[in-house]
Amino acid sequence: MGDLEIAAYSMTEKNLTFSGKKPRDGVTLAADFSQFELGDQVRIGDSVYVVEDKVGDNAAEDVCVYFESSQDALMFGRQVQPVYRKRADAPEDTEFLIGRFEITGYCSCDICCGEKEEKLTRSGTVPRAGHTVAADPDVLPLGSIIRIEDTIYLVEDTGREVKGNVIDIYFDTHEEAVNFGRQKHYVYEENKSDPKGNKKSNKK
Ligand SMILES: [Zn+2]
Repeated sequence: MGDLEIAAYSMTEKNLTFSGKKPRDGVTLAADFSQFELGDQVRIGDSVYVVEDKVGDNAAEDVCVYFESSQDALMFGRQVQPVYRKRADAPEDTEFLIGRFEITGYCSCDICCGEKEEKLTRSGTVPRAGHTVAADPDVLPLGSIIRIEDTIYLVEDTGREVKGNVIDIYFDTHEEAVNFGRQKHYVYEENKSDPKGNKKSNKK
């Protein structure tokens, strides 16, 4: 990617990265999302970092290395160095590729869904972990069957904050939903009649 401007940062223990995880010294990198995305591996000098955080929209730097100690961050200062990027994953096949989505987690608790008496999905079904996802109906209509990594999900819910290329995966507990954090994945259309494979007969 050529020479980029690199800064350093640290943060208080309670703060999490944009991906919802604890920052890791020597691993976590914040980056400009117009050039990088979450999960990208980035090599700077002899170190390989993972993009887990976001630099501020108006920041001068392209990437920002996380240090556990603010002293180390100060020592690093600002540098201009060659930066190499490796995409976290690449689409396996493009025939059934819907697109690249930001994936988050939710559960049926009051924090995730607000206080409702009925904890049903938008489709009126009982949500199930490993099965139910919420999506923007303009992007993925209710009833769509999709695959994210190796799991097949049914779009049966929507969400106020689920807009555009965003998918919210249902979990049984709030803790699991929070631990899932925020990830980026390619999402594929799955064959309705044969969700196990045999994609040849896939028809809309
Ligand atoms: Zn929750």
